[in-house]
Amino acid sequence: MSAGLRAASPFAPAATLPRPSDDDALMREAVAEARLAAADGDVPVGCVVVREGVVVGRGRNRREAEADPTAHAEIGALRAAAATLGRWHLDDCALYVTVEPCAMCAGASILARIALVVFGAPEPKTGAVVSTLELLDDARSLHHPRWRLGARRGEVEEVLASFFRARRGSADVEA
Ligand SMILES: [Zn+2]
Repeated sequence: MSAGLRAASPFAPAATLPRPSDDDALMREAVAEARLAAADGDVPVGCVVVREGVVVGRGRNRREAEADPTAHAEIGALRAAAATLGRWHLDDCALYVTVEPCAMCAGASILARIALVVFGAPEPKTGAVVSTLELLDDARSLHHPRWRLGARRGEVEEVLASFFRARRGSADVEA
């Protein structure tokens, strides 16, 4: 990436963050990552980190591909964004992920000082933003990213459902 990104101020005004009207196009990028994860046999979850409308980090679930329990989409995207920008604090960045972040990934977003988290579909079993915990809103958290949900939810849920349908189908064949 260009030196300009590294040199830029990390304290961009909130006005530079994506607006709800930007969510559809940015979530499309995260869904593309999710589809790549499915192609590798991983549960399709995808993520992008965005700064001033530009994707600076991409990640997808690679738990199976890397045999790594921490290889979630958000972790990959946060690491990629930090490498692109040459800094760990991403307080001028938004994180788009197809599925509600788990406790690890909500925690990583807090540690990275992400300004805004957008997710497509809630995850009732592991989601830590609204479903099982409310980490981003917890008064004890040291940083509180703004968040919103629902972008491209139908598509996100269809990508997941189609992955599990195919997996059940192949299990039936094996049985
Ligand atoms: Zn996670």
